[in-house]
Amino acid sequence: MKNEIKQDYRAAVEMMQSLQHMRDATSMSHFDDSIVQCKRWQRRLEMATQHNWPTAARDARDRLHGALDILRMRTTHSIDNLKRQSRSHIEPTATLIFQEIQALRGEFDSVTIDGSNQRLTVTTTSIVLDGVLLGSFEIRLNWKYIKESSPFDVIALEPNEPASGEGVTHPHVQSDSLCEGEGSDAIRRALDEGRLYDFFCIVDQILRTYNSGSAYVQLDDWNGVNCRSCGDTVDSDQALACSNCETELCMECSTCCDSCCERYCEECASSCESCGDDACKMCLKSCDDCGESFCPSCLSEGTCDDCLNNENAENAKDEPEQPCPAVQPVCVGKASVPA
Ligand SMILES: [Zn+2]
Ligand SMILES: [Zn+2]
Ligand SMILES: [Zn+2]
Ligand SMILES: [Zn+2]
Ligand SMILES: [Zn+2]
Repeated sequence: MKNEIKQDYRAAVEMMQSLQHMRDATSMSHFDDSIVQCKRWQRRLEMATQHNWPTAARDARDRLHGALDILRMRTTHSIDNLKRQSRSHIEPTATLIFQEIQALRGEFDSVTIDGSNQRLTVTTTSIVLDGVLLGSFEIRLNWKYIKESSPFDVIALEPNEPASGEGVTHPHVQSDSLCEGEGSDAIRRALDEGRLYDFFCIVDQILRTYNSGSAYVQLDDWNGVNCRSCGDTVDSDQALACSNCETELCMECSTCCDSCCERYCEECASSCESCGDDACKMCLKSCDDCGESFCPSCLSEGTCDDCLNNENAENAKDEPEQPCPAVQPVCVGKASVPA
C-alpha cells in the first residue's frame, strides 16, 4: 500500500513535468523562415513574368504555392497551441494529479502504473452495445506524450472483431486507437488540466456509447460475414463456405455443382464444355483426346461425345477403303483372270 502511494506520487510528478513542457512559449522563429521563403519566390515570380520566361515563372509559382502552404500549416498549428494555452484555467500540480490517481483507484477495479514505460492503465468493465458483447477494454495513457494528440491506446481484452473490419474491436476503435468524435475537445481539456479522473471517465463513456454515423463498422453488421466475392454482409448462419477452399460467400455468389451438389466459389467451379452445367473443378475431368473439361455425364471412358463422334465418323470413312465396293468386281474379275 505504501509502495503504491509512492509509485502514484512519482507518476504524478512525471505527468506534471510532461504537461509543463507544453506551456513553453511557442517559438516564432520558424515563421520568419517561412516568410523569407515566400518573399523569395514571390520576387522570382515577378522577375520571370517581367522577362517573359514562362518555364521559370511556372516553377516560381509552384514553389511560392508550397512555401505559402507551409506558412499556413505553421499558422494553424500555432493558433491551436494558443487556444489550448488560453483555455487551461487549472494549473496542474503534482498533488492534484496524485489525488486524481487516487480517485481513479476508487472508481475503476483495475488501475495500474507502469513506471518504466510511463503508462497509466485503467480497465473498464465489460461493454455490451445493442446486444453485441465487446468485452472489457484497457485504456492506456502514455504520459510521456500527454501533451500530444491522442496520447492513449484503447485495447480490447477479449476482442470480438467483426467479420469485415480488420483491426476494429469496437465501433469507434480501430488499430487500438479511439475515434474521439465530439469528445475530443473534452479529452484534450481534461488532459491539459491534469484531470485524469475526468479523462478516463470520458473515454469510458465514449466506449459505452454507439454513434452509427461515425462507426468503423455498424453494430448491425457485427456478427455478419462478409461475402468475399461481392462484399455484402450476410448473417453468419446464412453464409456459405466453398466446399473446396472454404471461402465464405453469400447465396448469390456461390455456385452449386450439378454433379456433386456441393457449393463452390467462383474459383473452384466452372462449367462443362458440352452441356454447360455448373460443375466443380473436382467433378470436371478433361477429355483424353481434346483436353477440354467435361462433367461426368458428358464423358464416356475419358472421352467426350464430340471426340467419340469424330472417332466413329473416321472409322466409318476408313472402313470402306479396304473392302472398296466399287473396285471389288474388278478385283474379283482380276482374280478370276488367272483362274
Ligand atoms: Zn456475394
Ligand atoms: Zn462437383
Ligand atoms: Zn473455392
Ligand atoms: Zn456436361
Ligand atoms: Zn474431347
